[in-house]
Amino acid sequence: MNYELVIGLETHVELDTQSKIFCSCGGHSSPKEPNDCVCPACSGMPGMLPVMNKRVVELAVTAGLMLNCEISRYTTFDKKNYYYPDLPCAYQITQLNHPICTNGLVPVKTSQGKRDIRIKQIHMEEDAGKLVHEGKFSFVDFNRTSVPLIEIVTQPDFRSAEEVVAYLSKLKSMFRSGGISECEEGAMRCDINISVRPEGSEEYGVRTEIKNMSSLEAIEKAIRYEAQRHMDALEFETEELVQETRRFDDVSGKTFAMRNKETEADYRYFPDANLMPIIIDDEWLEQIKSAKPVAVDEKADAYREAGISEKEIEMLIGNFKISKLLDDVIALGCNAKDSAAWILTDCAGILRKDGLLLSDLEITPDALSLVIKQVADGKINRGAGKKVLIAVIEDKVDPMEFIKKNALDAKVDEGAINAVIDKVIAANAAAVADYKGGKEKALQAIFGACMKELKGAGDPAVIRTLLIEKLK
Ligand code: ADP
Ligand code: MG
Ligand code: ZN
Repeated sequence: MNYELVIGLETHVELDTQSKIFCSCGGHSSPKEPNDCVCPACSGMPGMLPVMNKRVVELAVTAGLMLNCEISRYTTFDKKNYYYPDLPCAYQITQLNHPICTNGLVPVKTSQGKRDIRIKQIHMEEDAGKLVHEGKFSFVDFNRTSVPLIEIVTQPDFRSAEEVVAYLSKLKSMFRSGGISECEEGAMRCDINISVRPEGSEEYGVRTEIKNMSSLEAIEKAIRYEAQRHMDALEFETEELVQETRRFDDVSGKTFAMRNKETEADYRYFPDANLMPIIIDDEWLEQIKSAKPVAVDEKADAYREAGISEKEIEMLIGNFKISKLLDDVIALGCNAKDSAAWILTDCAGILRKDGLLLSDLEITPDALSLVIKQVADGKINRGAGKKVLIAVIEDKVDPMEFIKKNALDAKVDEGAINAVIDKVIAANAAAVADYKGGKEKALQAIFGACMKELKGAGDPAVIRTLLIEKLK
């Protein structure tokens, strides 16, 4: 029999806020040593009260707008009770009854075509701490307790592992380009709900849930393994499928039962009376909407229209910092296609020499736009522009001062260029003879020598024309 795979995802994303969701401790990118970012509130001291971080609401709404959700105007928090050492209050503050966003839609594209994934809801909640096990001791690190999360719950609309991977990649680039989360390793974690059913059937089969998955490769492997296990169970009655929570073991590539599926009643949810309901009025919603970053698809289209290549677009969309730098220099009046090349080729090349990545780039939009404009306006040539860029990136110099100090903008007149050409021709008799004998390639060496002698000053096109004239 042929089976159809049915998958629904619950995805947790750590938000890039300066502080935690209910206290003023630093957010998830702050802590260095275990328990550096902890206060009486987020370590569960008796009597401490949560205070809502406004920024969390705004980022959650922004995410909802990006995923085409309805935004709730009235949203509340609930306590989800369970005991575990990484949860100091023995309850997690989350949203059950009035989540912040509902009914969204995310189109995903795979080689099999396009499918719309319905979003059931997005809710805000706090993260738990981390347990570290060493021999017979266990340690608890509360840096992560109360770091803000959004959980995005889909309807069971995925039909293949490819669709799941496409959806998660899309969320990642959207959240990065929107400044919602950098989605670094471990900052985006999924619970994967899987069932299979005979092809054509309308009813869903028994589902299992694989907890806490973050790498895309592992997610793909886990889905393939689990789907096969379900199909074998139905086809050959190898085992009875029960609704349960499982974990994936990367080494064996298999999933293992962890516990029976808990139900809502197990958690004794009840409204958190310590937090007021949040009302999102028209004015606030409009404010969030107007600050909303352009969605990834629209942004890619705009770059495409400006003549930026697909490969460059891919690099930009995955990198919030770099695409923002590009947007900023464009806003300062630089040409889009030109600027993309300066950033993705020239800046990247300069960093690569030092073993650094584009994401390590430290340059202000002002400094970069000055370099780009000096070249575009013909004030200095491109080679000189590159020199300035290296000095700006490596030594943090002021670009205009560097240009003045090194006289890169000095207009070199034809007389000076001709003098240099004469000198170079005299010093490179062999290459000149080769060129005159028909070896076109020899020209490049002579031209290079002229450029070197002129130390980057002068317009390369003019120099080349004068050189060819002279050689005739
Ligand atoms: P719970 O309250 O048990 O977490 P939900 O109704 O919230 O259950 O669903 C959790 C996730 O499981 C959702 O992403 C949903 O799409 C998915 N899901 C529900 N039923 C199935 C099924 N039969 N097969 C696969 N996924 C499912
Ligand atoms: Mg659930
Ligand atoms: Zn705290």
